[in-house]
Amino acid sequence: MKIHEYQAKELFRQYDVPVPEGKAAVTVDQAVEIAGGLGGYPVVVKAQIHAGGRGKGGGVKLAKSQEEAREHAEAILGMNLVTPQTGPEGRLVQKLLVEAGQDIREELYLSLLVDRDSARVVIMTCREGGMDIEEVAERSPEKIIKVAVDPLLGLQGYHLRELIFGLDLPKEVQKSFAGLVRNLFTLFVEKDCSLVEINPLIITGGDEVLALDAKVDIDSNALFRHKDILSYRDTDEEDPLEVEASEFNLNYINLDGNVGNIVNGAGLAMATMDIIKKAGAEPANFMDVGGGATAEMVENGLRIILRDEKVKAVLINIFGGILRCDVFAEGVVQAAKSVGLNIPVVVRMEGTNVEEGRRILAESGLNLLTAVDLKDAAEKIAAAVK
Ligand code: GDP
Ligand code: MN
Repeated sequence: MKIHEYQAKELFRQYDVPVPEGKAAVTVDQAVEIAGGLGGYPVVVKAQIHAGGRGKGGGVKLAKSQEEAREHAEAILGMNLVTPQTGPEGRLVQKLLVEAGQDIREELYLSLLVDRDSARVVIMTCREGGMDIEEVAERSPEKIIKVAVDPLLGLQGYHLRELIFGLDLPKEVQKSFAGLVRNLFTLFVEKDCSLVEINPLIITGGDEVLALDAKVDIDSNALFRHKDILSYRDTDEEDPLEVEASEFNLNYINLDGNVGNIVNGAGLAMATMDIIKKAGAEPANFMDVGGGATAEMVENGLRIILRDEKVKAVLINIFGGILRCDVFAEGVVQAAKSVGLNIPVVVRMEGTNVEEGRRILAESGLNLLTAVDLKDAAEKIAAAVK
């Protein structure tokens, strides 16, 4: 789960990771009031959206006076912010973070993430942080220092020394940098993060080390033990269809193609997307209704997919194991009647009571195309969207 920068900074404060003073605002007046309480100017007005690259898109502005703070808040709040990470459609800004401006001497990069290959937490850092870290990674990857931490051994002194010497950090800031990494590592483990990224991590004119930006992703599977973080969820930042699907416990991800598909089992769903592509079409979504799906879940799935305007045809691919084919077929018929079908639907099913299932679909009077196997299903669906 993604959270906002201001929420990530709340977590940082809980773990003594230094951040600038600041607060979130949802109105211009609020933003101006917060700016006035920060003890002087400049202040920084920052768009809060679940995407990075805001600086480049005009979503981060420095204000030297109250008037300027108001101007920036008015401009950013409600804007459609387009950044390299939002895609061309951009994202509506509904929240701001107003922070005390900092005297930046240097911008560094620091991140922690789970490396699946080594099954370790990898800490990455670079002396050249800021808005163009991707360029540094491409141009001079040797400038990025990586340290892998075994989760059973935890963070050790030598890890910190490797980072500090790799960065060639000045003496004055080594201790505070080490403390910050230590605290961040504790946060990462305790809160079940999958990613923590600070870009930039700054060194101020007064030799302070501070997280100027904060990106934190939490492993969704661990949210049951983090009720505090669950309250950070902002469904305004999520795809509305994905939000609805999550309410029905459907594993659904919206994609760019025009073939909607409903499948039971994640492996079968992946294979189905592959055959759709192989037949020359593009999947509009990934949807796994679960190995033990009920007819009701298929109905919910179908309703969500049909609401997606880019979907021109739907492929339903079910293996009837726990869910018997006849029960499933009745579910499809019921769903099709209740949601109203006006695009082609291809059904491929196999498994327990398949004959009975096919009979139910054939006698339903609905415009359902039945496929005999996966290849046939793929060809029929590709033809349907052409
Ligand atoms: P991002 O573009 O979404 O990653 O947003 P950031 O929070 O990283 O902000 C982008 C850039 O704005 C930073 O790299 C800084 O150069 C600049 N910036 C942010 N806060 C301050 C500040 O307090 N003072 C100054 N001078 N610049 C800031
Ligand atoms: Mn940043």
